Amino acid sequence: MIDLQQEFNNVVKTYFPRWKASSQWRVVDEHPLLKEHFFQGKCIPEEKVIIINLPTDFYLHSIIAHEICHAITTSKYHDEKWSERYNKVAEQAEKLKNMNLAYHIREDLDYYRDGLQDKYQKGLISVEEFLDRRKG
Ligand SMILES: [Zn+2]
Repeated sequence: MIDLQQEFNNVVKTYFPRWKASSQWRVVDEHPLLKEHFFQGKCIPEEKVIIINLPTDFYLHSIIAHEICHAITTSKYHDEKWSERYNKVAEQAEKLKNMNLAYHIREDLDYYRDGLQDKYQKGLISVEEFLDRRKG
């Protein structure tokens, strides 16, 4: 069994040590939203909650870091502010020789930066789908 709170604390301690508000946030794997929507992770600033959909196909620490970056940058979207902070986690992970985490973060960043943006610009996905997939 994964101790989600412990994993969250580890990510905060290592990659977001100056995030003072972290103790006000909760990380949960059960939430009413999960019954209506599919997502790997979600940041709900209004509730100071980060939801992680367990078990996940993705690398857990990258999802936790992804959602914390939304919390810290107060950005609901995968914009520059968000991706810069997220990329810093990848750089720090490399310094700490956690290549696994760095790899998964870069893969996630690529998905949003190139994949999605690219598909949208080529007209392969609608603006609605683009905006919808940028959330979460
Ligand atoms: Zn996101």
